[in-house]
Amino acid sequence: MLTCESNIKFIKGVGEKRAELFHKLGIFDVDSLIHFYPRKYEDWTNTKSVKDAQSGENVTIKATMITPVKEHMVRRGMTLYKCRFSDGESVINVTIFNNKYLAKALRIYDDYVLFGKIEKTLTTASMSSPKIEKLDTGVRIHPIYSATGKLTPSAIAKVIKTALDELPPFEETLSEDITSRYNLISLDRAIRQIHFPADEKEAFEARKRLIFEELLTLQLGLLKLKGNKKSETSLILKKDYTHEFLSLLPFNLTGAQSRAIIECIKDMMQRHPMNRLLQGDVGSGKTAVAAGLIYSVIKNSYQAAMMAPTEILAIQHYESLSKLFMNTDIRVELLTGSTKQSKKREIKARLIDGEIDLLIGTHAIIQNDVEFKNIALVITDEQHRFGVKQRAALADKGLSLHTLVMSATPIPRTLGLILYGDLDISILDELPPKRQEIRTDVVDSRYHQRLYNFMKEAIDRGEQCYVICPMVEEGEEEMANVKSAEQYAEELSSGAFKGYNIGLLHGKMKPKEKENVMKAFSSGDVQLLVATTVVEVGVDVPNATIMVVENAERFGLSQLHQLRGRIGRGSKKSYCVLVSDSKSETSRNRLLAMKKYSDGFKIADEDLKARGPGDFFGERQHGLPQLKIADMLEDVETLQLTQQCAKQILAEDYNLDLAKNKKLCDEINKMFRKLEY
Ligand code: ADP
Ligand code: MG
Repeated sequence: MLTCESNIKFIKGVGEKRAELFHKLGIFDVDSLIHFYPRKYEDWTNTKSVKDAQSGENVTIKATMITPVKEHMVRRGMTLYKCRFSDGESVINVTIFNNKYLAKALRIYDDYVLFGKIEKTLTTASMSSPKIEKLDTGVRIHPIYSATGKLTPSAIAKVIKTALDELPPFEETLSEDITSRYNLISLDRAIRQIHFPADEKEAFEARKRLIFEELLTLQLGLLKLKGNKKSETSLILKKDYTHEFLSLLPFNLTGAQSRAIIECIKDMMQRHPMNRLLQGDVGSGKTAVAAGLIYSVIKNSYQAAMMAPTEILAIQHYESLSKLFMNTDIRVELLTGSTKQSKKREIKARLIDGEIDLLIGTHAIIQNDVEFKNIALVITDEQHRFGVKQRAALADKGLSLHTLVMSATPIPRTLGLILYGDLDISILDELPPKRQEIRTDVVDSRYHQRLYNFMKEAIDRGEQCYVICPMVEEGEEEMANVKSAEQYAEELSSGAFKGYNIGLLHGKMKPKEKENVMKAFSSGDVQLLVATTVVEVGVDVPNATIMVVENAERFGLSQLHQLRGRIGRGSKKSYCVLVSDSKSETSRNRLLAMKKYSDGFKIADEDLKARGPGDFFGERQHGLPQLKIADMLEDVETLQLTQQCAKQILAEDYNLDLAKNKKLCDEINKMFRKLEY
């Protein structure tokens, strides 16, 4: 009998060969198959006769096939199949492109359902590549799955249907009090309905139930993670040395920076390890806060470590902190992937002997066999690159360390509080004074020549520029006006910027190559950097004063804000130029918001309003478990509900020992076990 643990190859009609296609979608067992939810639905219930259908309309037509399929080879690799259908009064000419499998399956005089766009003239009706199904399965709401290659959505639907028909009812995961309090349908109904809803209402109920369960599981997991860290620690600071630290700084701290330092030091004076997120917009001065904490920790005779997601950022921190602590007795070292073996050995030995006070490096330093004598504080910069699990790993590493994670991802505050449910939060909501305003302009491509001249003038003065191109996705090549970084760099170096030193940086390059290009840009060898958004968050090249973003309408506002944060870091006037030929008013207004606002939180709100939640988070930026159905922004109300619900559950049964919570406990383990780092 089929169970959730069964390998999918045992489902009727699957077998070894097709199982492999499912593997590509990450589906191996029946459990992962039934949790592979539809991306959307196609409503096939709009059934019409050809006569009543409007030309250009998406319709469902019940029709009988009345001529055999004729094959037309158009050219190599392109075959058309043509045949006719009749709905009893009118004839429809149907063309099918390249789909031999479908063409061979059609039988003359059988009844079918055709779904798709119909084109009509006075005398004819035709459909081009409609979806075609046998009448007996056809007229209903169709689930659409993110299919790949040979697996079509309808093939996936068929396999899921077969599996669901054979599986026994799914065991309920939520207790009775929860399902009735929040008005949720049973898990069994939800899973069946999410794939094959009879109508919109059923689809809605199913989504509601599954989203609730997923977010509840997430919240429980996060709350438990936070709770676990309320362990005891002996790494308690006796004294606050912030006063001394202030005299090292070439500036006065902002109010927000002082508050953050006070909050953190207070944490570290308690019996429980600090577990805090420092959230601050680009340029809000998170490094100075980090330095302040490091100073007090070291003066209390402990060691500290600071980690960055890339070598370049690590080097940057090393340079600025070494300089800051130059006239103190604090000993700073740098450890990254390219540190020589002999040097590495030496650093490790000195760390364990307590001869190094502050170690700065890439996150490799927690994975390596690096041991400290008495480390008390670990700070990770640009936190969204590090996952929850990594944070947990850190805490596991040394005793119960104090941890601070720093993030510049401006997420709306309420959401942040929920999302980082396992952390306390300090926010830097104030920028250091007398910052040069960055001038932002939105232009179209007619402006290119003038723009290039403007850039050349800056480069000739010894300054540097970024040009950012959108990532071009596969299958988008036909969009001739969207240039890939590679193409564009090529064009510039043989054209407008002949004789200048141009660097290229994109996601498909090897890490080492990327580092090299960034180093060349940091040192000023590369004058103009053409890149995709891989330009590292947090990179600080104060000599770069111009940021040009091509096809700017294709970026999220928050992303543009991050990119703009790469300039205006030195004393020179900086310019951000957003190039866009988009005629759409919405995208124009979106870009103008960049001109209007410089506050990352405001921009995040605008972004959310304009684009909706789907695009808001870049690629898995938050480091949380991948969600299957819920969307943290769209479903923020449910997120709030589930947070309350999770707290109530834990208040009653912290270890989830009660029988009614058992299944839920399994779900948490399942969700958090999958986290990779
Ligand atoms: P981010 O929060 O983006 O990491 P940084 O820590 O890199 O910001 O700081 C940005 C710049 O602002 C640095 O050059 C830093 O020296 C400067 N800075 C930080 N705090 C202050 C302050 N209170 N007054 C003036 N300049 C400051
Ligand atoms: Mg920074």
